[in-house]
Amino acid sequence: MPNENPIALVTGASSGIGRAVAARLAADGATVVAAARRADRLAELAASAPAGRIEPCELDVTDRDAVRAAVDDVVARHGRIDVLVANAGVMPLSRLDAGLTDEWDRMIDVNVRGLLYGIHAVLPHFTRSGSGHVVTVASVGAYQVSPTAAVYCGTKYAARAITEGLRLESPPGIRVSTVSPGVVTSELADSITDPLAQEAMATYRANAIPPEAIADAVAFALSQPADVDVNEIVVRPSRQR
Ligand code: NDP
Repeated sequence: MPNENPIALVTGASSGIGRAVAARLAADGATVVAAARRADRLAELAASAPAGRIEPCELDVTDRDAVRAAVDDVVARHGRIDVLVANAGVMPLSRLDAGLTDEWDRMIDVNVRGLLYGIHAVLPHFTRSGSGHVVTVASVGAYQVSPTAAVYCGTKYAARAITEGLRLESPPGIRVSTVSPGVVTSELADSITDPLAQEAMATYRANAIPPEAIADAVAFALSQPADVDVNEIVVRPSRQR
């Protein structure tokens, strides 16, 4: 990782992939600020790690000022921030003609605005120090659209485009990676309210791999030497087409 004892902020750390990433980075020697809305889950995660390795941070990534304040607080307490893993996401799938417009808004708010607010918050610190690493957790849905996933995939195409744009605009000391999972065991599908999409998901998720597989990919990207930037990784179950 970029420093010997890097300071990493992981969003969406209360379950699934974010939780596995936070645990893995802490085990690898990072101090991890684990952010999400469910404080009880974060407290439990922090208690499972060696003392002080994982710091819970109650945060809604759709609140721009709160994201900025959380990052500034990390820098005030630790003197720097080295890594942002922008992982928080929601996936209430449905066909467009179901017209679930509030759910479209929520996906755009969390998956796109939440990512942008994270980048906005860390970038001044990365620019000042001349180093840092943003890892965006996108999806195979950033490469391929499927029925019921038009809006979700739209947010993930956007996340991938924004992350690539950040890479192109950044000086060499700032590294940028997109990690795109296929189907992974997590709570992600619990937010689906549309019966058609729920039914399709049950079959799709049968091949899921554990979230630690994605944590491995994030750790790989972070562990490269300073002159190596792993731009994109796609990790699918071997049975997923
Ligand atoms: P989970 O539902 O298990 O985790 C999602 C995380 O996002 C939770 O920790 C949740 O915490 C957090 N979150 C949601 N809304 C907000 C918010 N407004 N502010 C802060 N945190 C929020 O799903 P996954 O672990 O699967 O999802 C992680 C990422 O991986 C997402 O970006 C998802 O799109 C992506 N992904 C997942 C795949 C899979 O098959 N699992 C496949 C491809 C991509 P809380 O509710 O406590 O705030």
